[in-house]
Amino acid sequence: MQYIMLPSSLVGFTNDYTKIVTTTAGTAALLVHGNLEVTEADRTCSYCGSKMHVHGTADASLRHVSVGFDPMIVQFEKVRHYCPNCAQTRMQEVPFQARGHRITGQLYNLVRDLLSWGLTLKVVSKITGLGKNTVKQIDLERLRDLYTIDGERLIKPERQARVLGIDEFLLHKGHKYATVIIDMETGHILWLAHGRKKACVYAFIEQVGMEWMAGEYNSWDVRYKWATSMPGSELLSISRKLWNE
Ligand SMILES: [Zn+2]
Repeated sequence: MQYIMLPSSLVGFTNDYTKIVTTTAGTAALLVHGNLEVTEADRTCSYCGSKMHVHGTADASLRHVSVGFDPMIVQFEKVRHYCPNCAQTRMQEVPFQARGHRITGQLYNLVRDLLSWGLTLKVVSKITGLGKNTVKQIDLERLRDLYTIDGERLIKPERQARVLGIDEFLLHKGHKYATVIIDMETGHILWLAHGRKKACVYAFIEQVGMEWMAGEYNSWDVRYKWATSMPGSELLSISRKLWNE
């Protein structure tokens, strides 16, 4: 078989052989086998700083960036170390593994890039050969990085909305409600949550804060605009109540 050599950017990994294998799904994959370098940090106990002993190995396989549509699997051994001083064992860290996934950092970044271009989960799954759930999980992490402070709390809208629109719609064949709040001037979605109007409006106001709600306008303006920007008196009464408190 003929080979080409390519730089891999897999830090510490040295390729010894590559072969074409058939996956359980019956498709071809490139199996890139090699060794992972054991560094001084790998051998040093993080608790006491003692030198650790080798205490067994474990096989590792990570999905890497595909060549065309054929998936690439990087395979190597990881070393488990044991500290004779504090009896701790530690598995060798893989510098090029994406945290929390059995894929390389390069593939992880590619998935995030494809998603940021607006490709659907299904298409990204097709291109990369990764399972839909993996792609979905990476998308969730991407969105959390973009729109939350600590993975949980949402970032406040940068721009203050002058006119807010609200609508509720049915999900799951009409068994559940969701509510959306948008900036009527820019069309940006500011809030999208399960539940009906009332609870969502409270949650939204809690998120952006009263200062954001009032902004450069006095509360009457805001109330008036809220009232006129949406049909239904329910919201009007909510905002009135809030500003009367
Ligand atoms: Zn130790």
